[in-house]
Amino acid sequence: MRIGNLAGRAVLVGGGLAVDVERASGGRFGSDPQAVYAEWEAFRAWAEGADLPGGTAFEASELGAPVPAPRQVFAIGLNYRDHAAESGFDVPEGLPPVFTKFATSITGPVTEVALPPGGNTDWEVELVAVVGRHARNVAETDAWGHIAGLTVGQDISERVSQMAGPAPQFSLGKSFPGFAPTGPWVVTLDEFGDPADLELGSAINGEEVQKGRTRELIFSIPLLVARLSAVLPLLPGDLIFTGTPAGVGLGRTPQRWLAKGDELVSHVEGIGELRQRFV
Ligand code: ZN
Repeated sequence: MRIGNLAGRAVLVGGGLAVDVERASGGRFGSDPQAVYAEWEAFRAWAEGADLPGGTAFEASELGAPVPAPRQVFAIGLNYRDHAAESGFDVPEGLPPVFTKFATSITGPVTEVALPPGGNTDWEVELVAVVGRHARNVAETDAWGHIAGLTVGQDISERVSQMAGPAPQFSLGKSFPGFAPTGPWVVTLDEFGDPADLELGSAINGEEVQKGRTRELIFSIPLLVARLSAVLPLLPGDLIFTGTPAGVGLGRTPQRWLAKGDELVSHVEGIGELRQRFV
């Protein structure tokens, strides 16, 4: 099942068509895409059993963020060995670095992003997990049961403000407007052959800059749910940006940053792609 946000309304997507959730459910479920996750089990049961009407065609540019207003956004740093190495850091143990992307930075899959003046703006394609059930002290073996689905995310990062000051400002440097594109939809786990091994990558103006597989995550999604939920509760509709593989601009010689006019395309196997134009 694929759940999206078409012009601000929750939709089920299939075969390039979108079915409006509120209308198809006779009002049982509302139009707010975020509300789906507050009653995820009931929603999934309805959607799997419903005799859905034919959908309407749409353009990717009409899609909003599939999870537009999470109460918590977790973002994980240094979660691939090759990216930790290119960043000049040791591989984390126990807990990886955790920061947030403030909710105002979240957008849909096809956007224009304003480059902050004086900044060094970088790219980080990431698999994003969507929490579907309240999670507190969850065992790693039970953790997938707390995930509603997966989507694609870009952890766009402005490195000057990220590294400014006596302690790094990860959360602010990664939260400029438009710095958290997500989508194009949330895909439920049953749609993947193996949700723990998906190819992900990014390209700038058609040139591949990142390519990895999520089986290379140091902290897998179940391990992240276990370690994070040991500290605090994860809430339905929360997002977890799981980290980026190697190939970011910071780790290159010479370093490379996004420039005006660049188009960044980010993909995860079995989900889809994001498309950002920088202005
Ligand atoms: Zn990241």
